[in-house]
Amino acid sequence: MSSERARSTGSTQITVRKLNKVYPNGLRALDNVNVDIKKGEFVAIIGSSGAGKSTFIRSLNRLVQPSSGNIIINGTDTVTAKGSDLRHLRREVAMIFQQFNLVKRLTVLRNVLMGRLGYKGGLGNIWPVFNSKDVDMALQSLNRLGIVEKAYIRADQLSGGQQQRVAIARALAQEPSIMLADEPVASLDPETSIVVLDILKRINREDGITTIVNLHQLDLAREYADRVIGFKAGKLVFDGSPEEVTREVYERVYR
Ligand code: ADP
Repeated sequence: MSSERARSTGSTQITVRKLNKVYPNGLRALDNVNVDIKKGEFVAIIGSSGAGKSTFIRSLNRLVQPSSGNIIINGTDTVTAKGSDLRHLRREVAMIFQQFNLVKRLTVLRNVLMGRLGYKGGLGNIWPVFNSKDVDMALQSLNRLGIVEKAYIRADQLSGGQQQRVAIARALAQEPSIMLADEPVASLDPETSIVVLDILKRINREDGITTIVNLHQLDLAREYADRVIGFKAGKLVFDGSPEEVTREVYERVYR
């Protein structure tokens, strides 16, 4: 699907308005960010280290509390959501991280089952009881990621690329409508990075999950994304198709 088609067919799923984040030390990490993201888009966020990419992506699921502004996701304002609205939002928005964030001493299956936690109310979060539907879903996710044979192995026995695939399986088991990925390939070698990005792209296409990925490698952003958003010093300084990322844009974003 071309970027134009993807953008003209999906309805707006994420609306960001006047978003600001000032950390307690006074550092302004996001400066009046406005952007709309459509359902099913694959968006790459680019920019130098410290540009605000991670703060932006973490604001989307409230791992970072914005200082002001609005982020409307599926009709709910993330910035102010509380209680069941916030729990629902966190179920809708899955996240994968640079360092995978697996519980190393647990099995792969157990880690993927963590993706089902958002569906367990009350005490279920403390002593979660997973039923056969949860286990089936976890195994199916692992199967899709090509690592179901690792289900009963401890997570720390796997390679980095395999651990990231477990983390993606965990995110899928969550049945999200949005997948955030904060530098998902920064700890991986180039070949494994391509495997992981191919998987994210396939899931985006097959399941229609809106995917937002922070990438510091511009070449990967151009190759995988429908749309590229560039941050510099907390400001959104570019928003366009991969083809529009010219030398001039590169200079604007990275210099
Ligand atoms: P990027 O992901 O583009 O590297 P970040 O969003 O991680 O950028 O950081 C943006 C700016 O905010 C940087 O200057 C960083 O040092 C600062 N920053 C990030 N987290 C914190 C924090 N918890 N406290 C203070 N400053 C922070």
